[in-house]
Amino acid sequence: MPSYTTPEYVLMRPRTRIVCTLGPATATDEMIDQLIHSGMSVARLNLSHGSLIEQTDAIARVRARSDHAGVAVAVLADLPGPKHRLGPGPESESGPDIILEPGQMYSLRDGNGTSTAEVGYVHPPGFVSSTPVGASVLIADGAIQLKVIKASRNEIECEVTVGGPVQSDKAVSAPGHASRISYLTEETSAALDIAASQHVDYVGISYIRSAEDVRLVRDLFAARSFHPQLIAKIELAESMENLDAIIDASDGVMVARGDLGVELPIALVPESQKKIIRRANHVGKAVITATQMLESMINAPMPTRAEVTDVANAILDGTDAIMLSAETSVGEYPVITTSIMAEVALEAEKTLNRDEIAGRRRTGIQGLDSAIADAAVTTADRVGAKVILAFTESGSTAARVAGFRPGVPIIVITPDARVGRGLALRWGVTVITAPRPNSIDEMFRQGSQIALDSGLVKNGDRAVAVIGVPIGVHGSTNLLRVIDLPEPDAVD
Ligand code: PEP
Repeated sequence: MPSYTTPEYVLMRPRTRIVCTLGPATATDEMIDQLIHSGMSVARLNLSHGSLIEQTDAIARVRARSDHAGVAVAVLADLPGPKHRLGPGPESESGPDIILEPGQMYSLRDGNGTSTAEVGYVHPPGFVSSTPVGASVLIADGAIQLKVIKASRNEIECEVTVGGPVQSDKAVSAPGHASRISYLTEETSAALDIAASQHVDYVGISYIRSAEDVRLVRDLFAARSFHPQLIAKIELAESMENLDAIIDASDGVMVARGDLGVELPIALVPESQKKIIRRANHVGKAVITATQMLESMINAPMPTRAEVTDVANAILDGTDAIMLSAETSVGEYPVITTSIMAEVALEAEKTLNRDEIAGRRRTGIQGLDSAIADAAVTTADRVGAKVILAFTESGSTAARVAGFRPGVPIIVITPDARVGRGLALRWGVTVITAPRPNSIDEMFRQGSQIALDSGLVKNGDRAVAVIGVPIGVHGSTNLLRVIDLPEPDAVD
């Protein structure tokens, strides 16, 4: 049998997964190597930014460096979604900057024309008709703020409440009045094509308003014969209202605190985070807590005390993954930031109330798979097992075990590297790709060897194994066994 070693830095990682957003600051092989070494399990690309070449290069680089390191790293690509933006500003044609002053009037119209000192154009069309008198309008996430005073069919006339420069392509939103346009904007359609052609592992779906939006994206991918895991980004008041249905329709969820803090009163962000995490834990879906986690590290080699406390609190809330955005895409210290995040996570996990989070899952829907996963975690605690071995064809067994927050590492053994990458957001999972055994007995021997090779256990230790029988059939976890290591060789 071949030997299955795992780099020690992977075994020392926190159970909480780290997502790093890639960008100009991390566009080299060396940077990706160092991010993997520091704890990155998922590399995220925001398909709203960068050229097609930059995006496909980044995906290819992550794949190549992940293979080189022998460590599963998944790619998460975010679709832009139904977002309205300003058309070109005069600065794009070397014209003068337009600076809006508080108290002045400024109008917005649907269209793609060049903004002037009196009118800004918003595309795709549909913003004007969905924004009533009295609504607040935010440009560039609130850098400029307007109040709608008068609305007609083609134009809303606004008073500027917070001034600033009008620039091309800046996002335009009206909190509480989610866009009514189709999810499939031109920009989103192009991003769907990239995600499908590159076979990314996860797709982050921005500005999701309802479960119907999630289903539409799933259908659009299915029409391209592509079936990624969909991560619903919760960032609108409307997505909070439809939270349960959205999570049920998705494969995972992101607490997108950046936009959420713009679209909802900012003071509601903490309780929204807790609510989203609790619900995801309850139904056993992966949850990422995102945005401004170590924001000051964009320009400084040390975080603030408030930031590290925020990272730790997200972990104690029950998040599966924590995310870095500008810190790793454009920041000056992407690697140090990732290492500090990992260090803080390791410390926070020491006081994590695992039983409370498993308890949430226990009150969710239970099938045979969940019963076996739950039993594996409680059995591991009771028999003093050092590791849980999850043999999986589709990834569902391992994902379910993670939902019950075991006190010991979960080693996932799968014949399919793609399935391994699809578990990269799951709490506490280490993936080993190994050939599919021919029999149950061979599977136990393979698991025993993989556990011993990992260095996490030694002869005389115990492992709990969960398996689906017959071998090779998806979604049939039905067997739990305690193995006293090593499993003896076959006797002829
Ligand atoms: C957010 O708004 O918090 C978020 C993660 O989305 P984006 O980075 O696309 O703005």
